[in-house]
Amino acid sequence: MADIVLEEFFIKRSQQKKKTSPLNYKERLFTLKQRQLSYYDYDAEKGKKKSLKGTVDLEKVKCVEKVLPEANAPPERLFPFQIIYDEGPLYVFAKTDEIRKQWIRKLKEEVQYNKDLLQKYHPCFWADGLWLCCQQEVKQAVGCKVLEMRPRGISSQNSRRKSRKPLPPTPSEEKASRPLPPQPQAQPQPPPPAPQPTSSSAMKVIAQYEYTPMTEQDLGLEVGEEYVILEVASTNWWKARDKYGNEGYIPSNYVMEFRDDGGFLVRDSSKAGKYTVSVFTKVGGNTNGSCRHYNICTNQQGQFYLAEKHNFSNIPELIKYHQHNAAGLASRLKYIVSNTTQSAPSTAGLGYGVWEIDPQHLTCIKELGSGQFGVVKYGKWQGRHDVAIKMIKEGSMSEDDFINEAKVMMNLQHPNLVQLYGVCTKQRPIYIVTEYLSNGCLLDFLRDGIKNPHPVQLLEMCKDVSEGMAYLESQQYLHRDLAARNCLVDSQGTVKVTDFGLSRYVLDDEYTSSAGSKFPVRWSPPEVLLYCKFSSKSDVWAFGVLMWEIYTLGKMPYERLNNTDIVQKVSSGLRLYRPQLANERIYSIMMACWNDKPEDRPTFQELAANVQDLLYDLQ
Ligand code: ADP
Ligand code: MG
Repeated sequence: MADIVLEEFFIKRSQQKKKTSPLNYKERLFTLKQRQLSYYDYDAEKGKKKSLKGTVDLEKVKCVEKVLPEANAPPERLFPFQIIYDEGPLYVFAKTDEIRKQWIRKLKEEVQYNKDLLQKYHPCFWADGLWLCCQQEVKQAVGCKVLEMRPRGISSQNSRRKSRKPLPPTPSEEKASRPLPPQPQAQPQPPPPAPQPTSSSAMKVIAQYEYTPMTEQDLGLEVGEEYVILEVASTNWWKARDKYGNEGYIPSNYVMEFRDDGGFLVRDSSKAGKYTVSVFTKVGGNTNGSCRHYNICTNQQGQFYLAEKHNFSNIPELIKYHQHNAAGLASRLKYIVSNTTQSAPSTAGLGYGVWEIDPQHLTCIKELGSGQFGVVKYGKWQGRHDVAIKMIKEGSMSEDDFINEAKVMMNLQHPNLVQLYGVCTKQRPIYIVTEYLSNGCLLDFLRDGIKNPHPVQLLEMCKDVSEGMAYLESQQYLHRDLAARNCLVDSQGTVKVTDFGLSRYVLDDEYTSSAGSKFPVRWSPPEVLLYCKFSSKSDVWAFGVLMWEIYTLGKMPYERLNNTDIVQKVSSGLRLYRPQLANERIYSIMMACWNDKPEDRPTFQELAANVQDLLYDLQ
């Protein structure tokens, strides 16, 4: 029983496998273990679990959210929530809002790195053959409400984040903005199980973004086209074949998998200003399925149609109609397979298996600043892709050790980490090539770039960092120098963590020795200052200080004290004061990061959930 994370009695709504069976509600004992949610019949008299009634594999969960209670709900059904997975929604009712919150938070933590997390959901129940929120009559119908927090960006009035709403990718923008996945060797830990195509049913995918091959081994992708996956070379690069028989590697985060009949996608057509609907279908005896493409046409009255005789004044109406009627299409449009509103993500590395970059392919455009290792420049790779180039001053870095480590770092990929693209090591100085973030360093951004801080904006920055760090924590990777100066801000205002693990390769005693003048004393917990004991809990301490930097808009921590005083005072219990812009709840998160005992500090996973809760309450 030691592995049970949470256990609770809930009322569970039946999942109605047969359309005709009536709904029922039964009390079940739910247990949440590491990767599994199970529910049992319970013998109240004996106080014992009886038979296991069902389990949900947490890996398959796509969404966990509250549900609005039914009209005139009885008192025991006032706090429902939903767990969406392959079988559809599982509805459970908690006794109190507190319990519901606790479970939703814990479940979200457990599933946060799942593939296929939904970006939209239904805030009301599916009942009597329709969604009560949007009146759609297809159980698989895509959700009608955008999940505010997942996976990127939120919208809120007056917030800078408005501009962060993902935009549809345009070919030019996408190439610059999508980081590439990391190259395959030397995973820091085994990758999550990737889909393994088998010869009998090859996995088919459709490209969501255009990808221009970056190396000879890569295969280009055209939006809406179908590809067969031949080999899952790594989590991030898959070998694929296009319809012409060309083979090569593609970034796995640029494609979507088609599974069932009727999956569809609306995309830009090859003709400017036109749209195409791509539908996946298994009709015609084709068990593997294939894609059919239909151009959305306009008639003389300016109405839209896919099949003649069915005209509509706008595209959403046309789609809605074809969700219920094939009317000439190979299948009716049953479920949407992609969120076409997301901008293209970065790939890990500049092409499959590439981490050594040819310096002749780099053009330096302007100097961005300089740091511990020397000058950093903005430039282009192959004249097209934005990159930042760190030119490592000779003698400033333990180069061989770093070059070895770079292969591991390339595999770290997260929307809140600055992506390492590769290195140039055949010349001196060596270069480190990374994703470029146009708004520069977070510390400067806080000091000069924010006029009237909105509470949501500051909290979003904390959330960005906590999520990037939760990922590093999940990979058992320590940052060792987390601070606002080591975070960067992109054009949309997203904050990303950079320079993770780099401090290990600095050749400068002033920086590496805790008594040195450049050591990050102000960001270090007592156990680092006294015994050089680094852990992800020392990163958590630094995160608390970074939150403090955010809420003071870039003040220097303990500004009146020198390093020697800080070591002495912090070890005897001195803590940073509450910044004016931080309320008590926010300050209590910082204070939790500064617990004397490392083991009593929260994990990044918990921090990310706490910050998320605060954001919910602000909305
Ligand atoms: P170092 O790690 O050598 O100390 P920094 O990472 O601090 O150097 O870089 C120096 C400056 O260059 C930063 O303050 C920032 O303004 C700019 N910079 C560094 N990397 C990037 C990047 N990827 N995108 C945009 N600006 C960057
Ligand atoms: Mg730095």
